Amino acid sequence: MGFAARHLLGIEDLSREEIEGLLESSRSFKEVLRRDIKKVPAMRGKTVVNLFYEASTRTRTSFEIAGKRLSADVINVSVSTSSVVKGESLLDTARNIEALNPDVIVVRHSSSGAPHFLARSVQCSVVNAGDGSHEHPTQALLDAFTMLEHGKKLEGLKVAIIGDVAHSRVARSNIHLLGKMGAEIRLAGPSTLMPRGVERLPVQIFSCMEDALAEADVVMMLRIQMERQGKGYFPSLREYSRFYGLTSARLALAKEDALVMHPGPMNRGIEISADVADGPRSVIMDQVTNGLAVRMAVLFLVSGGSKE
Ligand code: ASP
Repeated sequence: MGFAARHLLGIEDLSREEIEGLLESSRSFKEVLRRDIKKVPAMRGKTVVNLFYEASTRTRTSFEIAGKRLSADVINVSVSTSSVVKGESLLDTARNIEALNPDVIVVRHSSSGAPHFLARSVQCSVVNAGDGSHEHPTQALLDAFTMLEHGKKLEGLKVAIIGDVAHSRVARSNIHLLGKMGAEIRLAGPSTLMPRGVERLPVQIFSCMEDALAEADVVMMLRIQMERQGKGYFPSLREYSRFYGLTSARLALAKEDALVMHPGPMNRGIEISADVADGPRSVIMDQVTNGLAVRMAVLFLVSGGSKE
């Protein structure tokens, strides 16, 4: 059985079969995106509302284009110009949006659990587009899709995730997904940026980035989540970069055909050098392109579409 749930709130609760179902459906939509006419009537007459309480470039745009390619009506609620600035709560905003009868609300919020709260409060489908430092399920799906597209097999794949793991929803969703699919996950970063309870996760932890990179198949770099940190997690950006920045010399420790990934936005010269970000092993732009196919699959499936 593939993915037949009404909401997509996180990867943690998904089964391996559901993840495979989502990836398979994403492959079909990637086919659609290669056609001359990239629009299909799969969600004609349905409405998708993008409700973003945090900044976003890639995720918001790709959910919008995904909805449009599926022929849905897509409405973007920009929180800075909505009644949220007048003090309206998430629940009141959601109830008012729901009164307009949408089929899917895509929500990004700085509080972990906000999409789960919303899913309990409204009748329509809810998709988590990133909640605090908790989960970012469509990012993990598009990352897995990109690895598979580049000929990698997830079972046994050595994936090094480097940087601010503690505050990264991208890391958390990837750890759940890759763990369920049998990958070997290595984490490296300052010990202050490792999540609490990390020893219970299916991962190996390294304080030295070089050790995590040895013979890795995939190197996934993370941005330092300044907006979710207090002070004093590391001495300075310069020092952080010296120990945990991906340079071409460090990348040489990974396998020759290793993929370099980053969810964006990148801080060039801090967690990744410009030559690596733009180099031949970088699949960072493929991640962005694949986000569209994955989000088409997610919108289609949560709104009741079936593979046939
Ligand atoms: N764009 C990703 C996110 O929203 C990664 C990042 O912001 O660092 O979590």
